[in-house]
Amino acid sequence: MKTKVTFLGTGTSHGVPMIGCECAVCRSTDPHDKRTRPSILIESDGAPGLKTRPTSILVDTSTDLRMQALTHGVTRVDAILFTHSHADHILGLDEVRRFNIGTRAPLPCYADASTIKDIRQTFAYIFENVGYAGGGIPQIQLTEILGPFCFEHLEIVPVPIFHGKRRILGFRMGSFAYLTDCSRIPDESWPLLEGVRTLVVDALRDRPHPTHFSVKEALEVVERIAPERACFTHICHDLPHAATCARLPRGVELAYDGLVLETT
Ligand SMILES: [Zn+2]
Ligand SMILES: [Zn+2]
Ligand SMILES: [Zn+2]
Repeated sequence: MKTKVTFLGTGTSHGVPMIGCECAVCRSTDPHDKRTRPSILIESDGAPGLKTRPTSILVDTSTDLRMQALTHGVTRVDAILFTHSHADHILGLDEVRRFNIGTRAPLPCYADASTIKDIRQTFAYIFENVGYAGGGIPQIQLTEILGPFCFEHLEIVPVPIFHGKRRILGFRMGSFAYLTDCSRIPDESWPLLEGVRTLVVDALRDRPHPTHFSVKEALEVVERIAPERACFTHICHDLPHAATCARLPRGVELAYDGLVLETT
């Protein structure tokens, strides 16, 4: 089944440009150097013959979700997958109200147990009947991810990864894998990544970081998985797009907001 992956955001938690920074990348006029907070949209056309319908899955609700949806024409979301509960990955959850109008039903959201706990706490007004008035509240249905599962016709395989000491989730769908916010792939997850042909992986900057892969570490992951195409994401202002892409090996590039990949 063919799917289309759109990068809605490829920046680190501060975004690029960063507030108050005067560096060359933050002042760059290259649109590839404008990075909003990390998120992707996975769309499948479905196949009428197989009784499958078009399906759009959002990965994370970034701080910038509203502008990302407006910029990239995202009008419908059928489900959300959460990688983890850091602010840059969940703070756009309130924007789901607009997607509720499209589907007229609570939006299915999938996450691990600790992310569900944090979302319930951070967005208490959604889950506790506190008499929130005006504008409405998002209608969402949280389901814990316990292993591979299907949403509509799409099989989603959670890939446990480490983000510093924290165990979070990457996701694999077909030959595509998305590993944002990653500093280590545990032994048990490597087999889940065998045969991946399109890999998206965290590469924050060149200097090492305790909770994110550096470019060098991300390249080691690419070498081991050996995909046809690899895109780096969760990028900070240390990496100018054009100059960094020019020094990466063939088949490896920095992702940018608006980049679209066709995957199977
Ligand atoms: Zn992040
Ligand atoms: Zn900067
Ligand atoms: Zn994070």
